[in-house]
Amino acid sequence: MSKRRATATVSKILTFSCVDGPGNRLVIFLQGCNYQCKNCHNPHTIGVCNDCGDCVAPCPSNALSMQKGNVTWQAELCTQCDRCLEVCPNQSNPKTQQMGVEDILQLVRKHQLFLSGITISGGEATLQLPFIVELFNAIKADSGLQHLTCMVDSNGSLSVTGWEKLLPVLDGAMIDLKAWQEETHLWLTGRSHHRVIQSIKLLSRHDKLEEVRLLHIPGITDFEHEIDAISHYLISLPERTVIRLNAFQHHGVTGQALKWEPCNGGQIKAFAEQLTTRGLSVLYREPLG
Ligand code: SF4
Ligand code: SF4
Repeated sequence: MSKRRATATVSKILTFSCVDGPGNRLVIFLQGCNYQCKNCHNPHTIGVCNDCGDCVAPCPSNALSMQKGNVTWQAELCTQCDRCLEVCPNQSNPKTQQMGVEDILQLVRKHQLFLSGITISGGEATLQLPFIVELFNAIKADSGLQHLTCMVDSNGSLSVTGWEKLLPVLDGAMIDLKAWQEETHLWLTGRSHHRVIQSIKLLSRHDKLEEVRLLHIPGITDFEHEIDAISHYLISLPERTVIRLNAFQHHGVTGQALKWEPCNGGQIKAFAEQLTTRGLSVLYREPLG
């Protein structure tokens, strides 16, 4: 019998991605998040399904049914129309899968020749910490896979004790810094940024801070108002840390965020210049169109 027990609720897997950490990466998106970001571009990854069944009847392909009180998804019937995500009252997804560490290892082995590493993302990845620790341990212990880097993409809300469990098997973390001032962060995400600053500090001290990401929402986020303070802070981070600027777009967002102005090429470029003139090196991509 396998000693591996941890399982995860997985919302999606990408077998190749070049935007979720360095190189070519297999990315596992876990279901569930402890933030309620107004700007979330994947809001159906926030909630955990409670098997209410509201998505079953609206599915136009009969791919959903209730079996012994649980919503069941038949992948072979699904057309990926995402009607179920639109109607879910719980910001959830009936197409999640329970996957064990061995399931993921098999997938990684199949693709490993083309990979630089794996990234666990979300939702908020670290809400399923035992699974991540067990998976990364298994990768580090496997002579055919241990060359792959193991990273997480996180909102930074994990506690110090949580990071301490992960650090021995973690090669790097990508952390979102969603706002500079506490009130702005609280308003935007529903949570304090105390843990985020604490996580960035801890990961910096262990040289495991791969990337800090700033999502620029013109007129909404406070980075431009606080440009001197934020520049001073970012410049103190380790040399390896990439500072990545993302331009807010409407794709996937719901609610009041649809009324916010998307960030255009000129605006993200101007934000980048404000940082580079203060001595920072940053990465960003101008939005298409
Ligand atoms: S995406 Fe959802 S609603 Fe659409 S076919 Fe698949 S299960 Fe049904
Ligand atoms: S995915 Fe949403 S609508 Fe469907 S059963 Fe789960 S909670 Fe209900």
